Amino acid sequence: MPRVFNFSAGPSMLPLPVLEKAKEELLEHGACGQSVMEMSHRSKEYLSVIEGCETKLRSVLGINDNYSVLFLQGGAWTQFALLPMNLMTVNGAADFVLSGYWAQKAYFEAKKFGKANAVASSESDSFSHIPEIERAKLNPKADYLHICYNNTIYGTEYQSIPESIAPLAADVSSMLLSQPLDISKFGVLYGGAQKNMGIAGLTVVIIQKSLTERSPHNLPSMFSYKEQGDAGSMFNTPPTFAVYMLSLVLDWLMDEIGGLEAMYEINREKAAVIYDYLDESRFFRPVARKDSRSLMNICFVTGSKDTDLLFCDEAKKRGLLNLAGHRLVGGVRASVYNAMPIEGVRALRDFMREFEKEHA
Ligand SMILES: *Cc1c(COP(=O)(O)O)cnc(C)c1O
Repeated sequence: MPRVFNFSAGPSMLPLPVLEKAKEELLEHGACGQSVMEMSHRSKEYLSVIEGCETKLRSVLGINDNYSVLFLQGGAWTQFALLPMNLMTVNGAADFVLSGYWAQKAYFEAKKFGKANAVASSESDSFSHIPEIERAKLNPKADYLHICYNNTIYGTEYQSIPESIAPLAADVSSMLLSQPLDISKFGVLYGGAQKNMGIAGLTVVIIQKSLTERSPHNLPSMFSYKEQGDAGSMFNTPPTFAVYMLSLVLDWLMDEIGGLEAMYEINREKAAVIYDYLDESRFFRPVARKDSRSLMNICFVTGSKDTDLLFCDEAKKRGLLNLAGHRLVGGVRASVYNAMPIEGVRALRDFMREFEKEHA
């Protein structure tokens, strides 16, 4: 069967050269007579994999030595809790922008640990845009301000990093590595790798070292940013194969794409193919407000649930897979992460045009 164009929101497509490289090395990594999956995580061979991965990630994203890079497990969901457990520990309070489902989950988890304060919400607008922070609502004693940079389910994204006096904490699960990002503006960034960085099982946390000093001493070690940072993500067994896959994705991003600026250019071109069509179509309607459009998750509807479903079914027959919107919102969602080639996006646009002709 030919390779499909997979528009899944995650786990999602990987670059073909990355899969080929992994296949080539599956039985033997380097010249050491074993697979990377079989190696002791403390072996010399594996240390070079994980250290190399961190070096590449630092270089691609421009992460300086004031930050720790942690390779953890448990997904972004776990971070919703670890964030307040570690950082909501100075004044016991933090501010939250409610821009969608995941942003709300982070807020509700934090409520279990202290005073979580909502400073903006676009819920009354069905999360169709990034809400403006109401400055008057900001708590001057907030230990951090939490945002979800790209709202995977609603297809909205910050177009610039919001100003914040409190350290900025951001869920970047579905956008990290899609565009250049000024890491120095953030206190902490985190995300599951299965959206745009690699495969499930790895969660990347990038955190200002000074913030890890807030981790309470009585936190279980596995939950402590301080202890994880001090141990160099080697407190226990890290997700060894998933780290290796991220490392291959970073090689691809640097060597074949040419870095984040080049990736951003490609991603903008890809998203424009669909958004431009949506803007001219009188049949399909984009869901996100124009000033909040996501580069990675493009959501649209026809106005009829049945027609949306029919569209996804018909698309599948053309090798355009996983276009159904999140179960909470329905509609159509095309996730066009880094690994989605422009040919996939053009094939989708062409099919939309054909479907519109037939059903309008
Ligand atoms: C997918 C997603 C999550 C949940 O991630 P898990 O790794 O499954 O816990 C959280 N936040 C955002 C923005 C996501 O896209």
